[in-house]
Amino acid sequence: LAPVVAFDGPGGSGKGTLSRLVAARLGWHLLDSGALYRLVAVVAAREGWDPEKPADVDRAAAAAAALDVAFPVAGDGSDAAVLLAGENVTAVIRDEAVARLASGFAAHPPVRAALLELQRRLRREPGLVADGRDMGTVVFPDAELKLYVTASPDERARRRYEQLSLSGGGANIDQIYWDIVERDARDQARTHSPMKPAADAVEVDTTGEDVEQTLARVFGLLSE
Ligand code: C5P
Repeated sequence: LAPVVAFDGPGGSGKGTLSRLVAARLGWHLLDSGALYRLVAVVAAREGWDPEKPADVDRAAAAAAALDVAFPVAGDGSDAAVLLAGENVTAVIRDEAVARLASGFAAHPPVRAALLELQRRLRREPGLVADGRDMGTVVFPDAELKLYVTASPDERARRRYEQLSLSGGGANIDQIYWDIVERDARDQARTHSPMKPAADAVEVDTTGEDVEQTLARVFGLLSE
């Protein structure tokens, strides 16, 4: 089996940027598992499905199992495009409403089970960098290196705000802060695959660090 480096942790911790850059520098494949949950949410939003309704959860699980997704990775580690049945949904899936709906459906085991196979199929030579909440605990428990990336909620809100401002969205930093805190609470409280560090994960707190500083630490751990 190809080697895996797992990056888990909450949204805005920097794990997305780190995993993209590590994948680009190693020349490995990248799995943005959050994008898969967000894609399920995009389908669900278009169909009007509700994560509180069991019949809609079953529909979402079926859609997850049949997801027609492609991640053409940019070689320089810049944001990978996300294609849903050929449609470019890169901007659509970044929406906070989509994230909230993703978190709602992600709490249901049938949806998680449907995405499990898809995620494991992406493990290919020369290696996979996997970004998510349960990469080290559930999807790739045998990963070579498991990192649990964190940052203070203030710093995460600030980063998300800057990201959204750059992409031209009229963002409100207080709203982002509360969205982050609320989504974390739900991701940590769910009974199946809660967001938590694997027993053998190394915790990496990125508060007050820039990307290059954290990357140097990560490559240090990789070469141990
Ligand atoms: O990482 P991102 O913010 O894109 O993830 C969106 C949502 O998808 C998370 O809040 C979480 O509920 C869910 N998710 C998950 N397991 C993963 C990745 C994401 O439950 N491995």
